[in-house]
Amino acid sequence: MCQMRSAGVSLRLSVPVDSCLVMRKQCPNCGYPVQTCLCHAVQPVTNYTEVIILQHPKESLHAKNTVRLLSLTLSNITVLTGKLAVDFTELDQYLAVDPKPTAVFYPAEQSTELSPGAENVSTRIKRAIFIDASWKQAYGIWQNNAWLNRYPFYKLPLHHSGQYTIRNSELEYSFSTLEAVAYTLEYVEQLDPAPLLSLLNTFTAQWQRFLPRRD
Ligand SMILES: [Zn+2]
Repeated sequence: MCQMRSAGVSLRLSVPVDSCLVMRKQCPNCGYPVQTCLCHAVQPVTNYTEVIILQHPKESLHAKNTVRLLSLTLSNITVLTGKLAVDFTELDQYLAVDPKPTAVFYPAEQSTELSPGAENVSTRIKRAIFIDASWKQAYGIWQNNAWLNRYPFYKLPLHHSGQYTIRNSELEYSFSTLEAVAYTLEYVEQLDPAPLLSLLNTFTAQWQRFLPRRD
């Protein structure tokens, strides 16, 4: 038997186990299960700001993670997995060798809120570092990576409320990493966030249609 969930209703389908395995087969291009392949929804985007994602190892295993959507879309993105400073030694060295205006996007107390009306952010930010993790894990990554404090910290204005509803957050500041990156690129280089947000919507809709909820 193969169990699926559609529109919140659990369905038991009388199909052989083999069919379930077929449905779980991954698309070689986007890496998602064939059933929820997103290739048709990906619109490649050229971004000039270098995007670097520090991804918590647990997050990289999370099927509903949005960083893969960013990787499928953006031309200039690097994803590094780790938690401790030792995990990011090569990055630290690379940043030192190739210095350019770098900003860390993390909602710390000292973070400056990005605002389009203020100074020209596009000249101040050529490289943007994001942390992809739960709130607690992201705090841990920041605490364990003192080298991040060499760069100015920024956060996004709250009126861009997150649309991402798969994972609920009780915290006010609730963006998926995809949204944080999309809005940052909109501010920094006036990049249209629509291709990313539309991919996120398709992704969310696919999950809600086909896959069981983890309540
Ligand atoms: Zn695909």
